[in-house]
Amino acid sequence: MRIVVLSGGFGGSRFITGLLDETSPDDEVTVVANTADDLWIFGLRVCPDLDTVMYTLGDGIDCHRGWGRTDETWNAKEELAAYGADDSWFGLGDRDLATHLVRTEMLRSGTGLTEVTRRLCRRWGRGTLLDRVHLAPMSENEVETWISTTIDGRDVDIHFQEFWIKHRAAVPVHAVRQRGIEAAEPAPGVLDAIEAADVIILPPSNPIVSVGPILDVPGIRAALRASPAPVVGVSPVINGRAVRGMADQLLAGLGIENSSTAVAALHGARANGGVLDGWLVDESDTHCVAELESAAIRARAIPLWMRDQETTRQLAEDTLALAEAIAHG
Ligand code: GDP
Ligand code: CA
Repeated sequence: MRIVVLSGGFGGSRFITGLLDETSPDDEVTVVANTADDLWIFGLRVCPDLDTVMYTLGDGIDCHRGWGRTDETWNAKEELAAYGADDSWFGLGDRDLATHLVRTEMLRSGTGLTEVTRRLCRRWGRGTLLDRVHLAPMSENEVETWISTTIDGRDVDIHFQEFWIKHRAAVPVHAVRQRGIEAAEPAPGVLDAIEAADVIILPPSNPIVSVGPILDVPGIRAALRASPAPVVGVSPVINGRAVRGMADQLLAGLGIENSSTAVAALHGARANGGVLDGWLVDESDTHCVAELESAAIRARAIPLWMRDQETTRQLAEDTLALAEAIAHG
């Protein structure tokens, strides 16, 4: 089976660990990661979602924080703060820094982000889950999410990371823009993987800043729509709340209702110009199923909380079962 997952960081990578428990090493899993969170900081190119997937599957993630490295130390960050450096709010751990240094060096020497990612992953491989996926950026072109907001009475545009980390999403969201997206091209191999897929999965990743930008890379949404494979998604919203994360504020700021159906409507039913064939909602959102089905999206209500590895594996099993039901009419 060839499976393509369009992933953000935390929600996407947790889901993928369950998917890998549920699939066999013969299955081909391609993870297309969002790169619109990426930023230049202190001269380094940082790719938060690619790194979260790489560290999670490579067994290098700090499980408590859900991002960054295990056994991390923060000497460089403290030194930057001591110099009064402007961007010292960004969480650059000492171990993590090595990843960004190596990546930036390779990018500067002209290597594309796909190959850079492949080489970074090679370090982790060796028997970890990362061995079993092909991890690719959505695009090699720089795309960055910027948020229009108001801070101290002034209307400003800030990078998504500044909004998320420095302001903890506690400032108003007037608009979300993916700078560079119109000119971006899908990374090499991404369209081929979508075209050859048997199943395409939208994991429970942030719909506005993770899955949205991937779909918005010119060519990717059209490839999903053209694919014969079922496209199934898992709601990141449970019972009217974006669990663990701050997607609430983003949805609210954009005037989108905080519900599983509203997120599904954002991606749209394939039958009505969107991408979704199926959508999983939480058992607490059972009332959404009829509405989704009347909007031509096959829906099921099941437990969506990834509480532990077993519930996460079960979620992947349910996702593949929905895809199979769709494939067989
Ligand atoms: P990020 O890039 O690190 O923000 O991670 P993602 O975009 O991949 O995922 C963030 C989303 O995961 C959030 O919007 C949450 O709503 C969702 N999420 C986190 N934990 C769970 C869970 O246990 N179940 C479900 N269904 N969604 C979750
Ligand atoms: Ca992200």
